Amino acid sequence: MARIVTTCPTTGESVPTGYRSADIDLEQSSGAWSFRCSVCQQVHAWTASEARTEATERFAA
Ligand SMILES: [Zn+2]
Repeated sequence: MARIVTTCPTTGESVPTGYRSADIDLEQSSGAWSFRCSVCQQVHAWTASEARTEATERFAA
C-alpha cells in the first residue's frame, strides 16, 4: 500500500506523513492533518491538495 508523502517546508524534501493511501482518499478529502516530520523533527500541517502517494511520485519521475 502506498505511503502518503508531502514536502517538508523546512528542507524541501519528501517526507512520509505516516498515513497510507488506504487511510485517506486524497481526491475526496479536503481536511488538514499534522504530523511530526521525520527529516527535521518539527510538526507540520499538510492538506490533501499538497500531498501525494509514493506510487504517483514514482510514475512522475
Ligand atoms: Zn520537516
